[in-house]
Amino acid sequence: MGSLQPSGPFRKDMHQNNRCFSKSYYFSTSKYVLVNRFWLCYSKILDIAYCQPCWLFTSQRNNVWCMGIRDWRHLSERIEQHSFSSGHVEACAVYERWKKSDTIDKEHENEIRKEASFWKMVLQRLFDI
Ligand SMILES: [Zn+2]
Repeated sequence: MGSLQPSGPFRKDMHQNNRCFSKSYYFSTSKYVLVNRFWLCYSKILDIAYCQPCWLFTSQRNNVWCMGIRDWRHLSERIEQHSFSSGHVEACAVYERWKKSDTIDKEHENEIRKEASFWKMVLQRLFDI
């Protein structure tokens, strides 16, 4: 169903000077163009931000971006740090491949289909002869 990026309203945290999550975190600015951080999600129920690719595919399950983060004061810095971390980059690569259904099983399935198609053509040729 894609990334969970609700538009708000977001719960204000009185322990953090009434700070809260914002939908502006979903975007980064790259040379005057807004780029969607597809990986950044927010759970309204848990009131946490998390990284969907890391949540699904990282090998480091104790990563704060898997467990969820609620540090609204430092969220911008945390997002920047996370977006360049090697574990995150690897998880995003797996996530992109998974979204395309480009898995090892799929490749194997295609090989089987190609071989079946070849043998059907051989049989058809034999019947024609
Ligand atoms: Zn991540």
